[in-house]
Amino acid sequence: MRRAKIVATLGPALDERDKLRAALEAGIDVVRLNFSHGDHDTHARRLESVRELAPRLSRNVGSLADLQGPKIRLGVLPQAGVPVATGSEVYLVPGADELDDYGSAGQAALPVVYESLARDVQPGGLVLIDDGSIRLVVSRCDAHGVWARVLAGGLARSKKGVNLPGVAVSAPSLTDKDVADLKAAIDLGVDWVALSFVRRPDDVTDARARVASFGGEAPVVAKLERPEAIDALTAVVDASDAVMVARGDLGVEIGPERVPAIQKQIIAEANAQGRPVITATEMLESMVMSPRPTRAEASDVANAVFDGSDALMLSGETAAGRYPVEAVRTMARIIEVAEASPQLVHPSPPPYERRSIGRVVAQAACQVARDVEATAIVVYSISGASIELVSKYRPAMPLLGLTPHEATRRRTALMWGTEAALVPMKDRSTALTTAAERALVDGNWAGRGDRIVIVSGLPGGQGGTNRIMVHRVGDPVSS
Ligand code: PEP
Repeated sequence: MRRAKIVATLGPALDERDKLRAALEAGIDVVRLNFSHGDHDTHARRLESVRELAPRLSRNVGSLADLQGPKIRLGVLPQAGVPVATGSEVYLVPGADELDDYGSAGQAALPVVYESLARDVQPGGLVLIDDGSIRLVVSRCDAHGVWARVLAGGLARSKKGVNLPGVAVSAPSLTDKDVADLKAAIDLGVDWVALSFVRRPDDVTDARARVASFGGEAPVVAKLERPEAIDALTAVVDASDAVMVARGDLGVEIGPERVPAIQKQIIAEANAQGRPVITATEMLESMVMSPRPTRAEASDVANAVFDGSDALMLSGETAAGRYPVEAVRTMARIIEVAEASPQLVHPSPPPYERRSIGRVVAQAACQVARDVEATAIVVYSISGASIELVSKYRPAMPLLGLTPHEATRRRTALMWGTEAALVPMKDRSTALTTAAERALVDGNWAGRGDRIVIVSGLPGGQGGTNRIMVHRVGDPVSS
């Protein structure tokens, strides 16, 4: 039984129905719609295919809409790219989608789709293009753009990312494109919204307000990839519903050598605060081209599990790679073996000062389940919050969330170790116990005579998790 979840980015590589089916069967728990690429109709079509296939495969699959955020990119370049020679000067033209003249290799001109570029950069500052494969240093700004010297040249291509390390980029956290994408994502009923380039807690609260203004309830995942967010880590995690270690842009912004320690720091903080945490990017990168991972990638996946990630993410591997199904299968296998290994040490529970009644009940339920040698823990939850809390205490036995809401059920797909089933609304413990027994027996998680632990907030509805019950499957149920 695999406990850490797999998030897989959809893209052309999984557009073929049989491939998508095989990848879902191989273990995708959450599909990521990457709004940096593709139009709204394409995302809608892909999500529709997932929602149609998942129930047929008896899989609970959630969805995450990943907004591009204030990502700075090059504009459109000629098909063959624009050569940028080491030692030469380039001219960056802010706010331009394309140019009439891209200059020569000795003095290239590049459009940058960001109006405030010349205002935000300073002479001496670095400009990194295409994940840092082209490195420039700013010489001066004039009325129309930015002159920069090329430290490391290469071939600049259309729409590649531009990073300005150390610059507090002034763009709003939700661009006009993000707002339009967010509306489309909410209309699609996505289960999570991921916000790129979060800088401060307000970015997350503003995004949540936007979600609500579009009539949505999707929780917000803060993608941690900016140095400002790492500096304000405790407050940003506190403001977020979940976080992502977005190692791609993080590595460009702060240098790849700092990523491993910051990954551990982010995961530890998220676990301490009881927030789900996704580790992302280049986990099985070589599988874009090869059917087998490198040993280093296998170690990276296992180490992300050992660090305490709730979920691991595949990006190009499943969106555009040659071996998308094999990538999911490989990731699932590495996680399973890591979780069975003695090296697995579960993260510390949330510290005392951050505890609420719900946390105390969740932790106690896991302890009771361990002490009575329960076969499973069942958590009845309307919003999913108590299922998430119990998941954070990493129970060794299966964790089954029961909820009357389809949206809550799908949201649990991201939560560590959680299976979920739909039940009608319950307001009596007898009805809940009967439903829990039935769901466990139907799913083969427990049989007659097994002890189970049931966590609920009965009576009283949402937000009041306050009960732990130990029950033996098959014993008479009384209120
Ligand atoms: C990342 O930068 O690691 C990331 C997950 O974001 P994106 O794939 O949108 O660049």
